[in-house]
Amino acid sequence: MRVWAVANQKGGVGKTTTSIALAGLLADAGKRVVVVDLDPHGSMTSYFGHDPDTLEHSCFDLFLKQGSVPEGLPRELLLQTSHERISLLPSSTALATLERQSPGQNGLGLVIAKSLAQLWQQFDHAIIDSPPLLGVLMVNALAASHQLVIPVQTEFLAVKGLERMVSTLSMVNRSRKQALPYTIVPTLFDRRTQASLNTLKVLRNNYPEHLWQAYIPVDTRLRDASRAGVTPSQYDGNSRGVIAYRALLKHLLSQQLATQVA
Ligand code: ADP
Ligand code: MG
Repeated sequence: MRVWAVANQKGGVGKTTTSIALAGLLADAGKRVVVVDLDPHGSMTSYFGHDPDTLEHSCFDLFLKQGSVPEGLPRELLLQTSHERISLLPSSTALATLERQSPGQNGLGLVIAKSLAQLWQQFDHAIIDSPPLLGVLMVNALAASHQLVIPVQTEFLAVKGLERMVSTLSMVNRSRKQALPYTIVPTLFDRRTQASLNTLKVLRNNYPEHLWQAYIPVDTRLRDASRAGVTPSQYDGNSRGVIAYRALLKHLLSQQLATQVA
């Protein structure tokens, strides 16, 4: 199983949309995918029609045994989504109590990695929608992953948020054997705005090695898909947004091959 985390400490940059778009395209291609909602806001869980405020069982349950994950529990927590090949490990508001806990001392850093290890025969791919704060949940997302996707909204303050995310990553890398490879993805790009063009220029200058050279455009079909509760490609496989996400997926899969060979 390959595990990707989608993270940025800034909200509203397209993390949930990117997670679901990529999961949908992988599933369309026949892959069995588990999506993990580690954001206490539970946007991904709501997207697929489950209410994070009333769910009795969620990822939170995985954290209750001092870091050991009971055999079979991750599988029991899985919920259905709009796509037969995508299962969801849902969030619930209870996760918020973990979000701010400092990572490290409590032995909870590998809970998601251990949970996914129990699912590797059932799924080809996992995608983790990560929380905005650097706490136990973020550390879990990064520790469980082979590759990190950082969506960055192409607007003025985005680069600050990206700097914060990259320094969070280097903190987490110190406790990993290998640095986590990451790809920066410009999102919500609008070619008519100076802010979008300028941000793209700054990203190209500052992060030439990690930047995906294209971008995800503003596309209202992506918003419509979320309102309909289906993946973007289920909603409209030919929209500009989906075409861009298809190119991104191809890029990420080629990066994955490169890291596997290296
Ligand atoms: P995050 O998870 O980082 O908070 P979301 O993926 O929830 O961000 O996106 C925030 C909002 O912007 C959502 O309403 C989503 O539907 C919308 N959105 C995301 N990406 C695009 C896009 N490329 N074009 C248009 N709307 C988008
Ligand atoms: Mg989100």
